[in-house]
Amino acid sequence: MSDASGVSQEQVPTAVAIVVARDGRLPVGATEAVAEAGGRVVVVGSGAAGAARDLPGVVHAWWHETGPGFRPGELAHALAPVVGPETLVVLPASPDGRDLAPRLAAAMGRPLLARVLTANVRIDKDGNPGVQASVARVDDHVLVAVDVPGAAVVTLIGGSRGGHGGAHGGAHESVVSPGASIEALGSSDIGSTSESAPDALDPDLIELVAPHLHTMDLGHATRVVAGGAGMVSGLDDHQATSRFSVLVHVAAALGGSAGATRVATDAGWTGYERQIGTTGVTVDPDLYVAFGVSGAAQHTGGLGNPRHIVSINTDPSCPMTAMADLGLVADAGDLVDELARRLGVDVAGVASTGSPALGSPSGTSEGNHA
Ligand SMILES: Cc1cc2nc3c(=O)[nH]c(=O)nc-3n(C[C@H](O)[C@H](O)[C@H](O)COP(=O)(O)OP(=O)(O)OC[C@H]3O[C@@H](n4cnc5c(N)ncnc54)[C@H](O)[C@@H]3O)c2cc1C
Repeated sequence: MSDASGVSQEQVPTAVAIVVARDGRLPVGATEAVAEAGGRVVVVGSGAAGAARDLPGVVHAWWHETGPGFRPGELAHALAPVVGPETLVVLPASPDGRDLAPRLAAAMGRPLLARVLTANVRIDKDGNPGVQASVARVDDHVLVAVDVPGAAVVTLIGGSRGGHGGAHGGAHESVVSPGASIEALGSSDIGSTSESAPDALDPDLIELVAPHLHTMDLGHATRVVAGGAGMVSGLDDHQATSRFSVLVHVAAALGGSAGATRVATDAGWTGYERQIGTTGVTVDPDLYVAFGVSGAAQHTGGLGNPRHIVSINTDPSCPMTAMADLGLVADAGDLVDELARRLGVDVAGVASTGSPALGSPSGTSEGNHA
């Protein structure tokens, strides 16, 4: 970064990640963005200092506290000069990263490559820096190689490094890398965000509505309760679908969101948006509970780095139980039903509607743990 920013004096083309924290929590994909940028990161947002210390793989982190409320337009204008000299600027493709990245690209006058799987700086034969990236398109089924002759801003898809998709700051142990340098950006480096862009056209925040645990993006859930084929062993499709609906309520009553394996989504017992894995959603919860899930690599590849894993399985030596902190050898379906009973889930009501009734009594634990 520039001399003016004080962030770096380096002349060689470099990369840096920008990560937006909320209340000290890091978004899914933060770890990968840092890795893609070679360990250099600017952490902004609320609780930025603590979040910077929670990031693994950091070589050099700069943080800047921007307080509550996220104003991506102002932030983009404030950050543009700070990261101006960087050839590659990487943001996680998290909601805040997707909000900030296009504004930052516009403020810097650079192209934006959205949803890249990999990105790196390259030098052409004349010594000019550029960016090579692999961009995911067609619902991530097609990868397109892109070569930008010059600097670029990219958003990186979480999960692209095989499952360690991100970190939730605060919940994990501190992971400061030995020798990592973590420092505050001076006010002379970044200045006041509101002064940087008085006409940034950021919306005024009237109210922050917590996502509904039934429908929130699984990738943001800090507790995930997942069901696999073993949870519906011996049931027909209709009964299996009902049990997955019950699982949604049980998960919500536990303050979490329901996930599933591909066997379950392919069978139609639950929606594809709940599929966790290499061809599904990447999660990174504090707690992951697996009901009748074998733990195939394609599933665990989307698990991130959960702090606690509980596996309920009749096979004590299945991979899921092997990687769990707590393994229960039990019938997964029976345990879901028992939990539903104890948590006050209206199993009969859920079964009769076929799908979870949003806002029903069992779904009242709406605290956003994301
Ligand atoms: C290209 C490709 C991509 C894939 N992508 C994904 C993906 O993104 N996500 C994904 O999940 N899968 C994916 N898969 C599928 C993956 O390989 C596994 O087949 C799948 O994850 C297994 O799902 P499962 O654990 O529900 O079922 P199973 O493998 O059938 O395991 C069922 C488990 O339940 C246990 N069990 C049985 N009865 C009971 C009972 N009564 N109580 C408790 N436990 C019981 C069994 O011991 C077993 O461990 C992919 C596969 C391929 C080839």
